[in-house]
Amino acid sequence: MNIIFVAPPAAGKGTQSALLVEKYGLAHISTGDLLRAEVAKESELGLSLKEKMSTGELISDDIVIDLLKTRLMQNDMQKGFILDGYPRTINQAHMLEDVLDELNMKIDHVLYLEMDKELAMHRALGRMTCPKCGAGYNKYEEVMKPKVDGKCDHCESDLECRTDDNEETFNTRFDTYLDNTQPLLDYYKEKELLNVIDNSGTPEETFSKIEEVII
Ligand code: AMP
Repeated sequence: MNIIFVAPPAAGKGTQSALLVEKYGLAHISTGDLLRAEVAKESELGLSLKEKMSTGELISDDIVIDLLKTRLMQNDMQKGFILDGYPRTINQAHMLEDVLDELNMKIDHVLYLEMDKELAMHRALGRMTCPKCGAGYNKYEEVMKPKVDGKCDHCESDLECRTDDNEETFNTRFDTYLDNTQPLLDYYKEKELLNVIDNSGTPEETFSKIEEVII
């Protein structure tokens, strides 16, 4: 089962992906994570990405599809994958289709996590991640707060905020998202792959709605 998540930044794609990975054994592929891994390696490519990513601009299509294709060719795809953060534009959707054809794969569901800007901003400014084990938290949401302020529940490491989770960058990311998303939704609707998921409740409520669609 191969799934695409379409959602504004900080809508909870990461949280929902983790739940799907755990229950259905899907591989979670976040193009943001793939790009951040390049930056962390301090490769030539990584250094060229760093500035653009810190301002919330989109990275060029050719760079992202290359990283994505390499990831899709790894051998943990037997049960399927979740694409988180890709495609963001129609052009990326076309490029994805070509790559999936080449690899003999197809998309089964496109899940659109509906979310308003104010709520998304609130979630973005509160989110924190464990750099060691990758667990995600949100200091503004009761059900997602770490047990001890600023510490990971699982490994007690100090939690970190993403540098692009600030108000100004968030505005750019959200507006870019709005400009590019509607055509993408129309595109997948026409292909009868689109499902709109109400995402205003708790992570568990959203997950139940997702399961109603994919099972
Ligand atoms: P994300 O983790 O999905 O919020 O992505 C963080 C940043 O990585 C974005 O603001 C972009 O700079 C870059 N990025 C992630 N996915 C893509 C994509 N599909 N196309 C272009 N840039 C991307």
